Amino acid sequence: MIKTHILGYPRIGAQRELKFALERHWRGEIGEQELEAVAAGLRARHWAEQRAAGLDYVSVGDFALYDQVVDHVLLFGCAPARFGFTGAETPLERLFTLARGVATEARDACGCGNAHGSGTHGKPALEMTKWFDTNYHYLVPEFDAATRFSLAPQRLLDQVAAARALGHPVKVTLVGPLSFLWLGKAKDGADRLGLLDALLPHYCELLARLKAAGAEWVQLDEPILGLDLPGDWSLAFERAYHLLHGAGVPLLLATYFSPLQEHLSLACKLPVAGLHVDGVRAPEELRSVADWLPPHKVLSVGIVDGRNIWRADLDACLARLRPVIDRRAGNLWLAPSCSLLHVPFTLAHDAALDAELRTWLAGAREKLNELRILKQALTDGEQSVAADLATARAALGSRRASPRVSRPDVAAALAALPSDADRRASAFAQRQAVQQARFGLPAYPTTTIGSFPQTPAIRAARAAWRRGDLADAAYDQAMRTEIAHAVQVQEALGLDVLVHGEAERNDMVEYFGEQLDGFAFSANGWVQSYGSRCVKPPVLFGDVARPAPMTVAWAAYAQGLTRRPMKGMLTGPVTILQWSFVRDDQPRALTCAQIALAIRAEVRDLESNGIGIVQIDEPALREGLPLRRAGRDAYLDWAGRAFRIAASGVADATQIHTHMCYAEFNDILPAIAALDADVITIETSRSDMELLAGFGAFAYPNEIGPGVYDIHSPRVPATRDMVRLLRKAAAVVPAERLWVNPDCGLKTRAWPETEAALRNMVAAARLLRAER
Ligand code: GLN
Ligand code: ZN
Repeated sequence: MIKTHILGYPRIGAQRELKFALERHWRGEIGEQELEAVAAGLRARHWAEQRAAGLDYVSVGDFALYDQVVDHVLLFGCAPARFGFTGAETPLERLFTLARGVATEARDACGCGNAHGSGTHGKPALEMTKWFDTNYHYLVPEFDAATRFSLAPQRLLDQVAAARALGHPVKVTLVGPLSFLWLGKAKDGADRLGLLDALLPHYCELLARLKAAGAEWVQLDEPILGLDLPGDWSLAFERAYHLLHGAGVPLLLATYFSPLQEHLSLACKLPVAGLHVDGVRAPEELRSVADWLPPHKVLSVGIVDGRNIWRADLDACLARLRPVIDRRAGNLWLAPSCSLLHVPFTLAHDAALDAELRTWLAGAREKLNELRILKQALTDGEQSVAADLATARAALGSRRASPRVSRPDVAAALAALPSDADRRASAFAQRQAVQQARFGLPAYPTTTIGSFPQTPAIRAARAAWRRGDLADAAYDQAMRTEIAHAVQVQEALGLDVLVHGEAERNDMVEYFGEQLDGFAFSANGWVQSYGSRCVKPPVLFGDVARPAPMTVAWAAYAQGLTRRPMKGMLTGPVTILQWSFVRDDQPRALTCAQIALAIRAEVRDLESNGIGIVQIDEPALREGLPLRRAGRDAYLDWAGRAFRIAASGVADATQIHTHMCYAEFNDILPAIAALDADVITIETSRSDMELLAGFGAFAYPNEIGPGVYDIHSPRVPATRDMVRLLRKAAAVVPAERLWVNPDCGLKTRAWPETEAALRNMVAAARLLRAER
């Protein structure tokens, strides 16, 4: 018997209904009941879609109002004591307090796709961090030695009851106990694994309650089995699952995102009724799993890509499944590789995509249909779905043969690139001397990271222009006025290296994607990033080429307004790759090299148009790292090469900057140094310059601008605070190599606080200069 199921469904809603309901609730426009009604309606609709596609179970428990991990914090009653919950709060009040904090300054995003914490007043929310290598952010559970657990299953049981009342067979989805503990953070150095024994009885009780409520299966997600785990963690699995097994409900252990490797035999022999593996990320393991998993257990194969938006090659899926079926006789389930949370709801009718492109894509809803076709082909023979298979083949064929996808000119340009195209002509020391002579900057030169406030007026002008209500020339003029204003403010403040302020950019990836060949943009391809925030990643479907300069006119205009150096501002190839849905028909490294070539041409055009300093932002460099250590060097090699291809086509006198933020850098310092940027600016203020210590210890060779203030808060930093941070910086990095700048771009700020903060920052730099 072949069955189909999913590991989770996007909960935000086809029209982002959940997002809008949440935000209305937070603004006080609707109460808890109304919000709950929207959520319940979405759940019912999503279950109905799952059943209509022939899934054998609906997924219950994956529908989080804010985040599935914080749901487990509440489910197991382990909210940190610092929130001081009394029990008088409603469950939703507790949820949103954990997620959003109390009386803190508003959390905002700098546009880098990353989520950031908030200010330091009140009760800060739980931290957020990326869910494995996705762009989804979960709320990090906080554990300490005093953490206690208690079960609060009512919300989940109600959802099971609701699904049952609608007549659906239910599989409940939970994060498994080991992954839950692993993903948390131990506050006082407490041992997270040490909490397992206290946690397990509550999982057992929950499983028993779910069984009693009529759940047929419980899926326990343990994606950490795809990581390099310390021995005591992998050892703990057996003990834990023996206990959980005792609860009597059939358990499906779900792994995804990464090969199991050394955990494969462990995963196969744990006392559970079924195992889900990611057949997209680790197809090479399918056969061994099919062999090793005892025959009475269910094998669930993640056969459709849950992380990307391409229509599946159904013939290839069937070919991959056949040897597995031969080995599994009965118990085979088909599923997407992971939760469908990571793809848009649907792309089938997207208004912004052309008809041809749409046929190449599959959102969550289309993936359900792919599962239906695969199941039927395997159950009743391919004849029974001949028309569906033919449609899929035709779409795939058109994608393969499309001249929009494969462009000989792009291949030729890459092939023509000399092998040393990723190296600057001279070593850093030599470049530094030439650049010092050219720019004559003072010690502790001041600059900013690129963007200035994206004011309501700027947004309104862009919206009007996009609607067609504002003519090109008028929009252009509005942006030039903004740029002129930004330049004038920077001159008045006395900054040394200016920027044009990025007024004309909606988003640092979209802006470039819209001007490059090979990218498309959906109207409604939203994916949840965190809470109510969604992103709409570009679709990188074809060979990348730059038909025309993208930033040169703005940069040259800005340079024409000032005698100080104007820094050109670009997004780097790795970040553009990382924040897009990328092709699955060629290696990521190749796609990245194509983007690099386009950026390289832009850098050279900036240079020949009088821009002497160019910044290439790579905030996403680190997040592209593979989950397993083994793949890291190879990634850093090609990613670094892509950056250098973009950066190295210029003369010694042209100064290349890069910028990175909101990540640990210390474990990839050699790779960062190998980028050989003349200057790197990084976020360091929130770690109180601690991040910089690594650069010092590593003897990072080039110039560094450690961020001296956090841009996520409207608070104006005091000069003395920044002086203190700069002194700390000068203790680990020679002062001759230090720059002075904020942590990141200022697009989310307003002008008054921006000017005040930068005024204090310039004063701090001057104080330190005077001491030299
Ligand atoms: N240049 C960009 C800006 O200032 C950098 C953004 C980022 O690092 N996320 O907005
Ligand atoms: Zn940044």
